[in-house]
Amino acid sequence: MNLFQTTASSRTLSDNQWREWNQAIFKIFRQIWLITLVVELLLFLTFKPSAELGRSVYFLHFILIPSGLEGLVLLAVRCVFTKLIPSHNRRTVSLYTIILTTAFAGITVCVHTSVSMLPAMLLLPMVLTPLYRDKAMTLLQAFLVILVYVANAFYFTPNSPYILPSTPFSPITDTLVFVGGTWATYILLARVNESVLLNEERSRRDSLTHLYNHESFYEELTCYLDGYDQRGTVFSIIVADIDNFKKVNDTYGHAFGDEVIKQVARLFLLHEKKGGFSARYGGEEFTMIIPDADPVIVAEKIRSAFESYDFETPEGIRHFTLSIGAAVCDKEYTNASALFEQADAALYRAKENGKNQVAV
Ligand code: GH3
Ligand code: MG
Ligand code: MG
Repeated sequence: MNLFQTTASSRTLSDNQWREWNQAIFKIFRQIWLITLVVELLLFLTFKPSAELGRSVYFLHFILIPSGLEGLVLLAVRCVFTKLIPSHNRRTVSLYTIILTTAFAGITVCVHTSVSMLPAMLLLPMVLTPLYRDKAMTLLQAFLVILVYVANAFYFTPNSPYILPSTPFSPITDTLVFVGGTWATYILLARVNESVLLNEERSRRDSLTHLYNHESFYEELTCYLDGYDQRGTVFSIIVADIDNFKKVNDTYGHAFGDEVIKQVARLFLLHEKKGGFSARYGGEEFTMIIPDADPVIVAEKIRSAFESYDFETPEGIRHFTLSIGAAVCDKEYTNASALFEQADAALYRAKENGKNQVAV
C-alpha cells in the first residue's frame, strides 16, 4: 500500500490501494463496534433498574440508540465513499477516517454522559491527524472534536435524561473505557504502521524485479565491510551483466527484455546463500553479496543456469548469456565503492575475454 509516500494531497489512489485502505478501516471500525456492543451488553447485565430508569429504557438509551447510530454511520459512510464517489485521493481517504472516528467517539461521549473518563476518547481522532499530512484535514478534525466536546459539555451532559448513579461498577466502567480507548488507538496505529513499514521496504526495492535497489546494496555492502573490519568476517561480491542486451531489446522489444531481466533476478534469488544479499545494480546489471570467500561457485551456477534457460520468442527458443565479475573482500578497502570497482574490473575482463564467463 502506497498511501503515505507522497505529500501531494490530490494524488489519486489506485483502485487497489483505495479498496485495501477502505477494507482495513471498515474492518477496524466493525471490530470496535462489536466490542463496544459486547461491553454494553455486559454492563446491561449488571444494571439494577430503578423507578426512574427501567430495563427497557436503559436498553433503548444506552445500547440500541448508540450502537444503532454507529452501525448506521458505518454503513452510510461506506456506501457513500464506495458507491457514490468514483475516484479517491489521499484527502477522501482522510475524510473517510475523520468521519468515522469523530462519529464513533462523538456518539459514545454524548450518550454515556455519566462515565467520567469518556470525553478523553475525543483524543483518539486527534492522535491520527499527523498521518493525514494535510493541514486542512487536521484543522477540520480539531474543529469537529472541539464541536463535539462543547456540545457534550453544554448540551448533552446537562440535558441527559438519565444520569446513571455512581455504582460499585463505576471504576470498572472507567477502566473498560480506558482499556478500550487504548486498544482502539493501538489497533489503528498498528495498521497504519504496517503500511508505513511496507512502504519503507518498497522504497528499498527495485520495482521490476523486487530485488534490492542500488542504494540498499551500498548500505548493505557498508555493513559487510564493517563486519570485516571489526571481526574479520570474509565475504565476496559478484556483479553480472547480460551480454549483448541492447540487441535483445532491439530484436524482441523492451517488454521481452524486461522478462529476461526478471529471469536473471529469479536466478540470483535461487542461488543466494543464507546471509547473502541480491540487488539490481542498474539496468541489466545485478550484484550479490556472498557470505564467504568462494564467489566463483555461485557465479558459475548462475551463469550456466541462465545460459541454458529456454526463452520463448516468435522465432522459437532462444538462449542468452551473462558475464560475471567477482571480488573477495580479503583486505581493507577504504569504502564500498573501492570493493565494487574490483568486481566491476573483473566483469570488464570477462567481457573482453569473449563474454559468457566468470572472472575474478
Ligand atoms: P554488453 O554485452 O557489452 O553488455 O552489451 P550490451 O548490449 O548488453 O550493452 P549494455 O550493457 O551497455 O546494454 C545496456 C542496455 O540495457 C541498454 C538499455 O537499453 C537496456 N536496459 C537497461 N535497463 C533496462 C530495462 O529495465 N529494461 C529493458 N528492457 N532494457 C533495459
Ligand atoms: Mg550493462
Ligand atoms: Mg550488457
